[in-house]
Amino acid sequence: MSAAYDLTELVSLSRTLGEPWRRFVILAEGNTSQRVSEDQLVVKATGRSLRHASAEDFVVVNLRRLSDLVDDVNAGDADVALYFDEVEKEQGMRPSVEALLHVVCVLNAGAATVAHTHPESVNALLCSDRAEVLAGPPIFPDQVVVIGRRALLVPYTDPGVVLAREVRGRLVDHAREWGLPRVIYLGNHGMVALGSSAGQALQLTEMADKVSRVLTATLSFGHVVPMTEESAERIDTRDDEQIRRTALARTTLQQPRNE
Ligand SMILES: [Zn+2]
Repeated sequence: MSAAYDLTELVSLSRTLGEPWRRFVILAEGNTSQRVSEDQLVVKATGRSLRHASAEDFVVVNLRRLSDLVDDVNAGDADVALYFDEVEKEQGMRPSVEALLHVVCVLNAGAATVAHTHPESVNALLCSDRAEVLAGPPIFPDQVVVIGRRALLVPYTDPGVVLAREVRGRLVDHAREWGLPRVIYLGNHGMVALGSSAGQALQLTEMADKVSRVLTATLSFGHVVPMTEESAERIDTRDDEQIRRTALARTTLQQPRNE
């Protein structure tokens, strides 16, 4: 991609998410994006790995053009492919097939940086008949501080424009009851972190991974005993936790070590 935008944080986030020990993604799985202007989103190109990402692995897409395709119920993957052809002709690479999902997260949920991954721990639950525990009441206070009181769970949907449309519809319903989510779980697929920054997108993914590990261990012992709604609300609104949340959101990403 052209050097028109500073993608240091986005590249750093991508490489960190791709570190093999985290088990968030392998091969060319997952994708990241960053809103760079009112109408432009920089998103990972298809087939590129997060682990070895550089600024050359990202393309610029037009938010409005893609959002219009999500709006148009008659538009399908073929219409998206036509736009992607244009991008490929101009920039030499095609956007990830999940670019529309990123567009919805940015335009309909206010994210500035989006990270979509397939963590093993999260997918273990998302591929089970207990996936709903991920979107239930929180199980420990740090989960509330980072992710909030409710994440959104979307049942498996065909990736691409259909998934983007489904997520957008469910975002509206979720926002009415709980406010906008910071994490979206996709049944039999993976998760999306909706960050206000690259640092926050990483924290959300790390916390979702931890929550999944704890839930899986808990389910092997017996039933999940979540926090009460009252306790979760208390953590969500306490002043000292707000201070901690603000401090966390300001954390910038460390440069990942080169391997
Ligand atoms: Zn995916």
